[in-house]
Amino acid sequence: MSLNHVRPWRNIYRRKSRQIMVGSVPVGGDAPISVQTMTNTLTTDVAATVAQVQAAAEAGADIVRVSVPDQESSRALREIVAESPVPIVADIHFHYKRGIEAAEAGAACLRINPGNIGSPERVREVIQAARDHNCSIRIGVNAGSLEKHLLEKYGEPCPDAMVDSGLEHIRILQDNDFHNFKISVKASDVFMSAAAYQQLAEATDAPIHLGITEAGGLMSGTIKSAIGLGNLLWMGIGDTIRVSLSADPVEEVKVGYDILKSLGLRHRGVNIISCPSCARQGFDVIKTVEALEKRLEHIKTPMSLSIIGCVVNGPGEALMTDVGFTGGGAGSGMVYLAGRQSHKMSNDQMIDHIVEQVEQKAEQIELETKAAAEAAE
Ligand code: SF4
Repeated sequence: MSLNHVRPWRNIYRRKSRQIMVGSVPVGGDAPISVQTMTNTLTTDVAATVAQVQAAAEAGADIVRVSVPDQESSRALREIVAESPVPIVADIHFHYKRGIEAAEAGAACLRINPGNIGSPERVREVIQAARDHNCSIRIGVNAGSLEKHLLEKYGEPCPDAMVDSGLEHIRILQDNDFHNFKISVKASDVFMSAAAYQQLAEATDAPIHLGITEAGGLMSGTIKSAIGLGNLLWMGIGDTIRVSLSADPVEEVKVGYDILKSLGLRHRGVNIISCPSCARQGFDVIKTVEALEKRLEHIKTPMSLSIIGCVVNGPGEALMTDVGFTGGGAGSGMVYLAGRQSHKMSNDQMIDHIVEQVEQKAEQIELETKAAAEAAE
């Protein structure tokens, strides 16, 4: 249960957006903020792409995007959609036919900018295909590919130009009586992205897809995304997010979740609270946390675990976590359950023991959640 009512400094008031469906996943309104990623395999390599989609879904991705650059990819898309456990977004650039093919192939959403696909007739055809196949659209404005007339008007990519571009694309969809869309205004510059998203949030009630594009490698891109997306999410802006990293899509999903978890916006898996360790540590905190992160990857139940090197902060942190371990002396430490001191455990057995305790707790939480849901029915 959220205790935010007694901790008002933790509240985030989400911008009110209307809700759309991306396949089975609601986006906007009061829906949980969804996490997306994108495959980087050749779409025509169906087996490799499906494996990547499945790995991303297993890591928690709610939606996965796949590039559809040519007709062979459209054909492959149909098979990928059929085997995917999550809705697939087809990434389309310029080719209106790919948009139509993707909608026909079962894509749950087209990432396409209607202003960039040619004549009004072509635009109408794509919109009709989306409508016929219950497919939403994501307008994806990118600072690096703004329309020429906007670059001429503003002189360079800037938040005003990005929002203008987005609103132009929105107008095209609305003129065609199509409202099943969300929108993003991405830039690789954190300031530009944040300013553009803030303006966009004022200008439309469409669900917003957040992202800092081309953020960089795993470490630097994570930091950049956490700053950019974190600030926007904290302001209540954003209905779905994608972290763009030059790294495995699974890493993007993990980072996306960690950003949402840090802000209390989504919970999944074990949230490990651990100290940086110092000379006082009663066991090797860093190695233990590395091992536990790997061993607990399979747990999806939201719960918390504190792994603290010594009694300076251990008992205090354990008070607020489901399972805790605090280093002591003489090769052993104290295990805490539900915030209470429980029993001693030797350092050399503690990893296996903590994994067991977490698994048991996860099972218990699942049973309690199920029972509460049944009682509510
Ligand atoms: S909790 Fe203890 S071991 Fe960990 S950093 Fe603080 S003083 Fe050091």
